[in-house]
Amino acid sequence: MKITVTVIKADVGGIGGHTRPSDGLLNAVKNVVRSQMIRNGKGLLIDSYIGYCGDDIHIVMTHTRGVDNKEIHQLAWKAFEAATRVAKNEGLYGAGQDLLKDSFSGNVKGMGPGVAEMTFEERPNEAFTIYAADKTEPGAFNYPFYRMFVDTLSNTGLIVNKNLASGVKINVMDVEKGKVAQLMMWQDKPTLEAALMYPGRYVVSSVYTRDNQPILAASTDRLHNIAGKYVGKDDPICIIRTQKDFPATEEVGSAFSNPHLVAGNTRGSHHVPLMPVKLNSPASINYAMPIVSALVFSMHNGKLVGPVDGFASADWDYIRQIAVERTIAIRSQGFVHPATLVPDELEYAEGYRARMNVLWSKMRPILGPKIQQPHMQKQQPQMQKQQKPQQVKAQPSAPKTAQKPQQTQTTKAIKKIKKPRQVKAPAPKTEEKKPQ
Ligand code: MG
Ligand code: MG
Repeated sequence: MKITVTVIKADVGGIGGHTRPSDGLLNAVKNVVRSQMIRNGKGLLIDSYIGYCGDDIHIVMTHTRGVDNKEIHQLAWKAFEAATRVAKNEGLYGAGQDLLKDSFSGNVKGMGPGVAEMTFEERPNEAFTIYAADKTEPGAFNYPFYRMFVDTLSNTGLIVNKNLASGVKINVMDVEKGKVAQLMMWQDKPTLEAALMYPGRYVVSSVYTRDNQPILAASTDRLHNIAGKYVGKDDPICIIRTQKDFPATEEVGSAFSNPHLVAGNTRGSHHVPLMPVKLNSPASINYAMPIVSALVFSMHNGKLVGPVDGFASADWDYIRQIAVERTIAIRSQGFVHPATLVPDELEYAEGYRARMNVLWSKMRPILGPKIQQPHMQKQQPQMQKQQKPQQVKAQPSAPKTAQKPQQTQTTKAIKKIKKPRQVKAPAPKTEEKKPQ
């Protein structure tokens, strides 16, 4: 039986800031989604689950309508619109924040909500995990994805599982240009590594086996590319099938055991570790650490069992402690890069530009011999043009009597030294000594 798993997420309001949705919001979403559960042959959904990670609500839906289905996407859009109305009535912060368009136009992609979905022939004991993150960006998943599908030191399954050992196909999206490249493991490994070096630009969007079984689908929208200016962090979500021909559930989960630095955090402008958290956790108000939760599901005939909370066991408390220690370490250097992002990635780019405009207005050309230094050669023509008038002006203002004798004496002295040497070598020693 072919089943489609669709997960769509959005931030439409948080209590007292970017913390978590209210119960009123969650109920509004549940009411809309549950109205479309299949009953007596009517409805869209076989099953659904609604939860949250930080201030993002995720709607997990199973159905048979395939990916990019208008009715499924519209259902999620309506649910978030209903939640937005509640958020406005409750005075929640950022009400309707991720709904960037006024009306639905067929697909939530490009409209603000994040979407990850895949269609596959359901296995008798289908297993998959959904990873939902908050206070970060889609590229935050690049590193754990690499550990799952490429790094044999992190995943022994890549060696001993025949299917995985033959290498997977990894699609990498350029989120600025809106293009995708398919990279084949293992021959394209160094090319993949070069792409994943900069998670703000290149993002893993999907992974397939050699024989085209879908393993992974991730949301890749970047909200500031949609809206043209920053409107919120584009918190990612993904679906990863596990077991049998795919990585084990634990091999996928363990890829989050080394809290790596990601872009996000307070004001979306810092590099801090990604901390695994329990299901339905509010965002931390300790600088809003980037967080990720793991929803572990079984599915049969589209019916869900779960989720099990993947990051609830005691060992993850230790990982959380590492994440906190690393956060304190990097945040202790405040605004100094790399604690902060590069200017193009700053959430509050307008505020930063305003400060820099003041700095630039105070900038003046550097005068004096330093302009001749090799690293400033490109500026030399401009600097010379600027200097010439200044030199001309300086001469008349200087005391004529002081300058002329000096120049005359120097010129005469040089002539006197040169003349004897050029005219005849055996000149009298007394004449040579005179200028000295
Ligand atoms: Mg928010
Ligand atoms: Mg969020």
